[in-house]
Amino acid sequence: MTELSDLPIRDDLRGQKPYGAPQLDVPVQLNVNENTYGIPEEVALDIVEELARAIRGANRYPDREFTELRESLAQYLGSGLTAEQIWAANGSNEVFQQFLQAFGGAGRSMLGFSPTYSMYPLLSAGVGVRWIGAPRLDDWELTPEHVVAAIERERPDIVVLCSPNNPTGTPVSLDVVRAAYDAHDGMLIVDEAYGEFQHAPSAVSLLDGRPRLAISRTMSKAFAFAGVRLGYLAADPAVIDAIRLVRLPYHLSVLTQGAAVAALRHSDAMLAQVSSIIEQRDRMSAALRELGYHPYESAANFVLFGGVDDPKRVFDGLLAAGVIVRDVGIPGTLRVTAGTPAETDAFLEALARL
Ligand code: PMP
Repeated sequence: MTELSDLPIRDDLRGQKPYGAPQLDVPVQLNVNENTYGIPEEVALDIVEELARAIRGANRYPDREFTELRESLAQYLGSGLTAEQIWAANGSNEVFQQFLQAFGGAGRSMLGFSPTYSMYPLLSAGVGVRWIGAPRLDDWELTPEHVVAAIERERPDIVVLCSPNNPTGTPVSLDVVRAAYDAHDGMLIVDEAYGEFQHAPSAVSLLDGRPRLAISRTMSKAFAFAGVRLGYLAADPAVIDAIRLVRLPYHLSVLTQGAAVAALRHSDAMLAQVSSIIEQRDRMSAALRELGYHPYESAANFVLFGGVDDPKRVFDGLLAAGVIVRDVGIPGTLRVTAGTPAETDAFLEALARL
C-alpha cells in the first residue's frame, strides 16, 4: 500500500497530521463547540424558501461579490460598518486561509499565544508561513505588556489574537488588541469565533483608523450554522481588496449565500439560546469546581478544566456514558462545550459517577 511518505509531497508537509476532531454519533456531543440547539422551525422554513429560489438560478455562477450577503453581515455587526468592509468564505477557517495567502506566504511568520486554536499552525504550514506559538501567563491570560514583549522579540509579519481564546476560553481585553496593533507594522487578526458569548465589546469597535486590523467571525458557533460553512471578516476595504487577489472565483455557492442571507434576517431567533448557553457554561464551571476540578475562566461556549489525573480514562468513561468531550492535548485537562440543560445534566452525572 502506498504511504503518504512514498509520495513526492512538499517537504514541509511531511510528518504533519490533518485536523481531526473525532466525529462520533453519540447522544451528547460536547466536543467541537457547536450550538447544540437546532435551528428554529420558522427560520428553517424561510431558509428553505430562499434555497428553492436560489437553486432555480444555479445554472449561472453565483454573485462573485456576494453583495447582498455582505450587506446583511454589515448590518448584523452594526458599528456603522458597510459592505465594502466585509468579506466572507466557507467558514472562518477559509477566511483565515485567504488572509494568510494574501498577507503571509513563504518566508513570513505568524505569532499567536499558545495554547490557542489548533488550526493556526496548520493553516500557516499550508501557505509556507512559519508559526510562532508564544507562551501565555498563568491561567492562560494575556496582558498588553506580555503581548508587546513577544511581538518585539519575534518581529512577526502577522499577529493573531483569539478572543475569547480556544481552547482555554480566556477573554482578551481591547487594551491587549490596541497594544498589539501599535507594537508592529504588520497585520493583526482578531479571531472572534466565540464573540457573541462574551459580554465585552467586539474589536470591531477598533477598526476605525486601524487599516492593518482584521476581525474574523463565524456563523458556526453562537449562530447555530456550523453545517452551512459561513465565516466572515471585517476590515478596511483595502484589506478586502487584498483578499480578492487570492480567493477562488465564485467561492460562495448560491445555496450558501441564500441560506446565510435568510438566516441573518432572523438573527434574534438564531441567537435566542445564547444566554441560556452562557448559563449552562457557568453552571458547568461551578459544578466542576465542586467536583474538585479546576475550570478556567471562560468567555466562550465551552469550559477547559484542569485537575484531570488521566484525561484519556475520563474521556473514555464519558464516551461510554454517551457523552463526547475534547482532549485538546493540554496535560491534565479536558474541554467541554456548553449545550442544553439536559446535556449539562448528562455530562455532570457521568463525570460524577466516574
Ligand atoms: N476560530 C476558532 C477559534 C475556532 O474555534 C473555530 C472552530 N472550532 C474556527 C475559527 C473555525 O470555525 P469555522 O470554520 O466553522 O467558521
